[in-house]
Amino acid sequence: MQPAKGYAATDSQAPLAPFTFARRDLGAHDVQIEILFCGVCHSDVHQVRNEWGGSTFPMVPGHEIVGRITAVGAQVNTFSVGELAGVGCMVDTCRSCPNCKQGLEQYCETHISFTYNSTEQDRVTRTYGGYSNQIVVDQHYVLRVSDKLDLAGVAPLLCAGITTYSPLRQWQAGPGSRVGVVGLGGLGHMAVKLAAAMGAEVTVLSTSPGKEADARALGAHRFVVTKDAAALKEVRTYFDLIINTVAANMDLNPYMNLLRLDGTMVMVGLPPEAPQIGIFPLVGQRRRLAGSHIGGIRETQEMLDFCAEHGLTSDVEVIPISQINEAYDRLVNGDVKYRFVIDMATL
Ligand code: NAP
Ligand code: ZN
Ligand code: ZN
Repeated sequence: MQPAKGYAATDSQAPLAPFTFARRDLGAHDVQIEILFCGVCHSDVHQVRNEWGGSTFPMVPGHEIVGRITAVGAQVNTFSVGELAGVGCMVDTCRSCPNCKQGLEQYCETHISFTYNSTEQDRVTRTYGGYSNQIVVDQHYVLRVSDKLDLAGVAPLLCAGITTYSPLRQWQAGPGSRVGVVGLGGLGHMAVKLAAAMGAEVTVLSTSPGKEADARALGAHRFVVTKDAAALKEVRTYFDLIINTVAANMDLNPYMNLLRLDGTMVMVGLPPEAPQIGIFPLVGQRRRLAGSHIGGIRETQEMLDFCAEHGLTSDVEVIPISQINEAYDRLVNGDVKYRFVIDMATL
């Protein structure tokens, strides 16, 4: 084992604080990465505060990791020391179930080793995330990162980027399709950039009237304040696809009515409580309610390459790690444009 340092929560009430722990020694298939930046996802807050239940402590959060490779195992031949690399929400899966075999590791039927608040495939060894100075990850779960993009802005692509890219591709967003994005936060602002880059017509559906100028600058063609009943009525039976990124409990029914025939609302936001869904809006226009979970490794690489090609990164506020607790409060209050990213040099 080798020493590592980071920030951890020791229980669901405690603020994050400095923490030392151990990473495994480099195995033959492993890549060791010096972490340079780590994004702050709303999922970090849900888990640190145990809002989904089942959190285990101490917890080192962080699954939007970018850094530089400092060592590679004897069997690693696709990554080299000195290259940039990324790690997202998963560090291992079973690799043998039907979903893993087709590159859909995020839907592994056996056991996903999430980057933190989880266990390795032995189901015993705890995983610790990216609010730390280094990480050791099997090469299959490591992503290539372009050196052409601002690195702090790349970090959020590893979760916010892929989580919105995957459903946009699955439901074929592109020229001629009308995409609605509910919630302009970390995931939402990436959904807007990606859908616009794919050629779709994009509408932001937001509770915050003050975000209109930003939404348009990010690439949205239309902005609807969802508290405004008349504005909402104008986009009734309008959308082919709605990506719902909201992290809080909300009434989904008014949004279902915004879908046209055969339209789909995809939930990527994970509010803790189950919503009540009316069946009549579903039946009326053969609508669908779906969910989507991050993305597979192959698709994550495809998304990173797409972003490099289109010059897309996340809009970030870079913070020193000492401000992480304040950043959590600001994130919950919607006070970030549009993703906090920790500069790990401040650890
Ligand atoms: P975020 O930055 O906090 O953004 C959420 C946005 O939702 C806010 O900016 C706000 O946008 C809107 N919102 C907040 N409270 C609301 C309310 N009470 N009613 C309606 N809208 C509200 O969070 P994030 O990091 O993007 O994460 C969003 C959710 O996705 C979280 O639940 C997270 O756990 C989940 N997630 C899921 C996956 C997956 O694989 N499915 C991956 C990553 C994250 P407006 O001001 O524009 O309304
Ligand atoms: Zn995330
Ligand atoms: Zn599997």
